[in-house]
Amino acid sequence: MWHDNILGAIGNTPLVRINNVVEGLPCTVLGKVEFFNPGGSVKDRIGVTLIERAEKEGKIEPGGTIIEGTSGNTGAGLAIAAIAKGYKCIFTTTDKQSQEKVDVLRALGAEVLVCPTNVEPDDPRSYYSVARRLAEEIPNSVYLNQYDNSANPKAHVETTGPELWKQTEGRITHFIAGAGTGGTISGTSRYLKDQNEDIQVVGVDPMGSVFYKYFHEGVFDEDEIYPYFTEGVGEDILPENMDFDAVDDFVQVDDKSSMQMTRRLAREEGLFVGQSCGMAMAGAIQWLNDHSAELSEDDVVVVLLPDSGFRYLSKTYNDEWMKNHGFLESRPEVTADEVVK
Ligand code: PMP
Repeated sequence: MWHDNILGAIGNTPLVRINNVVEGLPCTVLGKVEFFNPGGSVKDRIGVTLIERAEKEGKIEPGGTIIEGTSGNTGAGLAIAAIAKGYKCIFTTTDKQSQEKVDVLRALGAEVLVCPTNVEPDDPRSYYSVARRLAEEIPNSVYLNQYDNSANPKAHVETTGPELWKQTEGRITHFIAGAGTGGTISGTSRYLKDQNEDIQVVGVDPMGSVFYKYFHEGVFDEDEIYPYFTEGVGEDILPENMDFDAVDDFVQVDDKSSMQMTRRLAREEGLFVGQSCGMAMAGAIQWLNDHSAELSEDDVVVVLLPDSGFRYLSKTYNDEWMKNHGFLESRPEVTADEVVK
């Protein structure tokens, strides 16, 4: 048995019970472990659907160039799909992203332009603006715009949602995920709620992003936007793919809690995952504790874990980086003598 190319290996990622970091909760908590995808993240799922939508709409011809603004993971998914389908890729990203992510994109043959993080989205230097401009200038190229392109949530309606329904044999009661473009949470929610409208969907937002306040108060508050370190989640814009009607509640998590939970997932569960996984799990535990009176042992909660720890070795999994950012209290160094004792 084999796949025709690497695209056949996307999806059907495992669901793994979370045993230790959720101690004391009455329900079953499962992680949907997306680093098993070949490009290393949940965003492999949208790489193919975004390109196939552009082909169907006649926006790109064979040999053309795919252009996208990406924090890294969508780029990997697109690069893989582009290789299988014979396109070139140019990605714009921000200087906040891990070097590892940029290196992965270049390893997959893409050209990467790193743009400043702390400029307004409509600033000509922003990674959104640069991607748009390139698409206007380069012949036979298409800017896929994962933020507003409905082929993004469609991938989750067609894959992530059905997988969760099947893997839990319809027993899933809660789905909890972070949001960047909103494609994962909105698409997965749409499918799951079509099967059972009682399934609760909870979004998790990093502090500094706009979704939490917009969901609860309906206001887009520019004063609430500030830089944060958790990569791939939260926004300073409201993407069309973030469907607030598909979400029942939103919680907010600070960087320190996200980073520390990421490391706990590695050490206590053996799940070597990325920052937004720690954020989603920290948010899930917060929400489940707040609602524990309504929960029972029949509840099956799925938390989506988007990517791998390998992309954050120089950050969350580096003690110096953690200490320098105030995410890890300094520990006295353990000497060789003490280890021998
Ligand atoms: N986590 C990480 C690490 C990501 O790269 C992304 C995508 N930006 C997300 C979570 C959020 O996924 P979505 O864009 O589907 O909301």
